[in-house]
Formats: sequence, C-alpha cells, structure tokens
Amino acid sequence: MQLSIHEFDLPLRHVFRISREAIAVQKTLIVELEEGGHRGYGEATTSDYYGCSFSSMAEALERVRRRLAAETLRDPAQLWDLLEPELRHNPFAHCALDQAAHDLWGKKCGKPVYSLWGLSTERLPLTNYTIGIDDIGVMVAKMKEFENWPIYKIKLGTDHDLDIVRELRRHTQAVFRVDANCGWTAEEAIRNSHELKQLNVEFIEQPLPADRWEDMKRVRAESALPVIADESCIQPPDVDRCRGYFHGINIKLVKCGGLTPARRMIQRARQLGLKVMVGCMTESTVGISAIAQLLPMLDYVDMDGALLLAGDIAAGVTIERGVCRYPDVPGCGITLTAPVS
Ligand code: MG
Repeated sequence: MQLSIHEFDLPLRHVFRISREAIAVQKTLIVELEEGGHRGYGEATTSDYYGCSFSSMAEALERVRRRLAAETLRDPAQLWDLLEPELRHNPFAHCALDQAAHDLWGKKCGKPVYSLWGLSTERLPLTNYTIGIDDIGVMVAKMKEFENWPIYKIKLGTDHDLDIVRELRRHTQAVFRVDANCGWTAEEAIRNSHELKQLNVEFIEQPLPADRWEDMKRVRAESALPVIADESCIQPPDVDRCRGYFHGINIKLVKCGGLTPARRMIQRARQLGLKVMVGCMTESTVGISAIAQLLPMLDYVDMDGALLLAGDIAAGVTIERGVCRYPDVPGCGITLTAPVS
C-alpha cells in the first residue's frame, strides 16, 4: 500500500461554539491509501482539546509509511492491530489510517464495508442536527435553516441553558438531545434533567467534567433523563468504567483510533447493557461516510459534521432530514472531489 497525506481547511457555515471553544475553520488530515489502482480515504480533524495537531498526526503516519509499503491489505482489523504499537500514542492518526484501510478494503472487494461486516441497512437510526451555542435568536435561526429535522442536538453549558431549550421548543416538535460538554455540576445536571424531560429532551450528553466519577454516579441515579458519556469514554477500556455511571456511551472514531476499536467498543457496550451512540467532529464527508458503516449497530447517531461546513472536499454518504443515504460506490463510498497537491 502507498500512503499519501493531505491537509485541508474546512470552512464552517457558522462559527461553531461549545462550552469550551469556538471555531470558524477546521483543519483536517486526509489519509489516502493506494493499492492496485484502488484508493481508500480516511480522515482525522485536528483538536486542541485532545492535543492533536496536523504535524503530530503526519509525523506518526510517517513512522509507518515503510511498513505499509511492504503490506498487502487483507483485513483492516489485522492491519490496525499490527500498527497499534507504533500508533497507540496518536489515535487520531490511527483513525484516519484505519478508515482509509476500510474504504480501500471495500473497494478492492467491490462491496460496501457494512455489507462485508454482515450488516443490513434496512433499519437505521436517524441522525440529529447540532446547534452550537450562540445568542438564543441565532440558535433559533440555525435550527430553522435546517427545518423539519426529526432530531436536534443542542449544545449547552451557558448560564441560561433552560431558557435556550424553552425558546427552541416554541418553534418545533422535534426530539431534542442536549450536550453540556462537561459544563455542569451534579446539582445542575439533576435539577436541569427534570425540566428538560418536560421539554421532550431524549438524553443528556456529558453533563460533568470527564473525571467526576463519583458525582456522575449520583447524577445517573437521580437524573430524570438518560446520561451518555462522551469526554468520559475515549478508548476501549473506558467502556467498562462507564457501567453504573452512565446509561450509554458516545464513541468518536478519532478518539478511539478508528472503525476497528469502535466496533470492539460497541460489542463490549452491548455486553454491559449500555446504549451506543457514535458522534462526529466537525469533519468532511470522508469521516462521515466511515461513521455511516456503523449505523446498523447503533441506537443513536450524530453524523451531521459535513452539514456544518461551507464547503466539502468529498462525495460519499449524504444526509437528508436525518436520513442517511449510501452512494453506489463500494468501501465507505468515498470519492475525493477537492484537488490535492
Ligand atoms: Mg459531545
């Protein structure tokens, strides 16, 4: 396999604000793996919170370039395990490579990845559309820009969170999810959960900072709504820790290292009776098309990342009012549309 690394700037439709940061342009790394004329693509966006820059990812990938050149792709999961000792310190880089390996694998076999895994796309969860923190009027306008969606995920962590949800509720009957991104105390989380339930909120994502395990136990016991771990559930060993502290987990491919560990986390969560969600970063259709392969295994999904962009770099799965549509292209279905240097 031949490795190429591409860098892109993804401009956002709106500045995207959550409880700890705001961004207008998202930098992203695209891995291209070529073998026998087939090209597979994978993505990892940069993240200050997780300490992952473009150069740190590119450096990690350079370390396995020669190894990849000597390998023929047979099974992406086997390749993931083979490279784990060298990439374990950079799961973002490993994720981009693992997605590209899956896309390439499917293209070589002439089938979508989900079907090579034995999954059917007959019944799939709907994805939410995410509304970042802003003035309440702007948040209403952002929701109306994507009108008639079945589910909205609302970013919270302000000093007027309930006002935001009350106001949005005046404009739609859609299901709401809220994500506090570590912004609440246990008392706030428990208190907010009762009114949020009245406002037809489905669940609360990551109410407390990631290390507040004891407080989280109380929230889980006293919350009127299910609580889902995001910042508290990064890699496969975290799934076991979440049992008894959360009702479910939100897996992000970049945080865990790609589709291979994500499938292992899903399997473990099922054994523990935890609900499973997969979330996205603000990312292009490359990363979103990889997430789409996991859809048949999920309870909830947040894969609206590419819809938040002012310009995309690839064609692949598309999302219309929460419904995922797969392209007639094997693998993860990705075709790069932006020019690469
Ligand atoms: Mg989250």
